[in-house]
Amino acid sequence: MKVAVFSAKRYDRELLAEANTEVGHELHFFDDLLEPSTVVLAAGCGAVCVFVNDVLDEEVLAALADGGTRLVALRCTGFNNVDLKAAAAHGVRVVRVTEYSPYSVAEHAVALILALRRKIHRAYNRTRDGNFELDGLLGSDLHGCTVGVIGTGKIGRVFARIMSGFGCELIGYDKFESPDFERMGGRYVPLRELAARSDIVSLHCPLTPETHYLVDAEALALAKPGAILINTSRGGLVDTEAVIASLKFGQLGALGIDVYEQESDLFFQDLSSSIIPDDVIQRLVSFPNVIVTGHQAFFTREAVGTICATTIASISDYASGLPLAHEVHAGG
Ligand code: NAD
Repeated sequence: MKVAVFSAKRYDRELLAEANTEVGHELHFFDDLLEPSTVVLAAGCGAVCVFVNDVLDEEVLAALADGGTRLVALRCTGFNNVDLKAAAAHGVRVVRVTEYSPYSVAEHAVALILALRRKIHRAYNRTRDGNFELDGLLGSDLHGCTVGVIGTGKIGRVFARIMSGFGCELIGYDKFESPDFERMGGRYVPLRELAARSDIVSLHCPLTPETHYLVDAEALALAKPGAILINTSRGGLVDTEAVIASLKFGQLGALGIDVYEQESDLFFQDLSSSIIPDDVIQRLVSFPNVIVTGHQAFFTREAVGTICATTIASISDYASGLPLAHEVHAGG
C-alpha cells in the first residue's frame, strides 16, 4: 500500500522502514507537518501516517479523501488532532496505537518530579560551572507526599505504582474508576479535593472538550501552596497563562511539562538559532522551578519500536481487508 508519512524524523524513517521490511508497503516520507498547505503530498496514497501535531481537520480530511486516502494511521495514542466526524463523513478510517510501553511516559513524569523536587536541573548547571554551593538546592522527600493522579488509565496506573513505591499516598480522579488503582492503595476523590490535597498533581487523561483547561485559574487557586503540577498528557489540559500567574504568585511550587498547548509551532524542531515569538513559553522557561521537555515522554527505544510495529500492522490489516483492532470511532 502507498503510504505518505508526515512529520517524519530520522528515527521515524529508520524504525518504520525496519517494521516494514517484511510487508513492503510503499512508504513516502515527508518532513512536513500535514496541514492544508501540504495535504497535496498525500495525493494517490491510500493511507497517511501522522503524529501528534499533524492537522486532520475537516479541510484536510476532505482533501485527503479527494486524493484517494482512506486510512489515517496515527503513530501515537492521543487522537485529539483528528476531526473524527469529518473523517467518518469522508469515508476515512482512523487507527491509532492504543498501547505501547506506558512505562515510557509514566517514568518521564517521575523524572520530572524527581528533578524538580531535588533541583537536579539547577545542580547540573552549577557543577558544570564549578559551583558546588548547596544554598538554594534544598529539596523535599517524596516519602509521605500525597500524589493526585488525574486519569488512572494505563499510564496513570503505572505512574501511581511507581509513586506508591516511593511511599506516597495516592489519590485519584477518573471518569471511570479502576479497581487496579484501588488495589495498589489509591483512593478516588472528587476533583476539587484532589486539587486541594495533593503535593503533586500529575495529568494522565486525554484531551477532550470536557478536559480542556481542566487545570484553570479556579483549580489552581485550590492548590496546596508549593504543589507541583506535571503534565505529560496534552497541553490543552492546562490554562498556561493561569499557571504562569500561579507560579508568579508562589501558589504553584513547580511545574514540569512535556506538552504545551501551542507546541505545534515549536516542538520537534531545532529553534536554537531563532528568535522564538511565543512569549508564553519564553516566560515559562525563564522560571527556575519549571522544566519543559519537548514531547519526549514516549521516546524510548521500547515505545517507539512498538509504535512503528503496530502502525505498520494496522496498515497491513487495512490493506488485507481485516478488522482494525486499533480503530478510533467518532463518539467513542
Ligand atoms: P488511557 O485511555 O489508558 O487512560 C486515560 C484515562 O483517562 C482513562 O482511565 C479515562 O477513563 C480517563 N479519562 C477520560 N476522560 C476523563 C475525564 N474527563 N476526567 C478524568 N479522567 C478521564 O490512556 P493512556 O495510554 O494512559 O494515555 C493517557 C494520555 O497520555 C493520552 O491521552 C495522551 O494524551 C497522553 N500521552 C502522552 C505521551 C507523551 O509522549 N507525552 C505519550 C502517550 C500518551
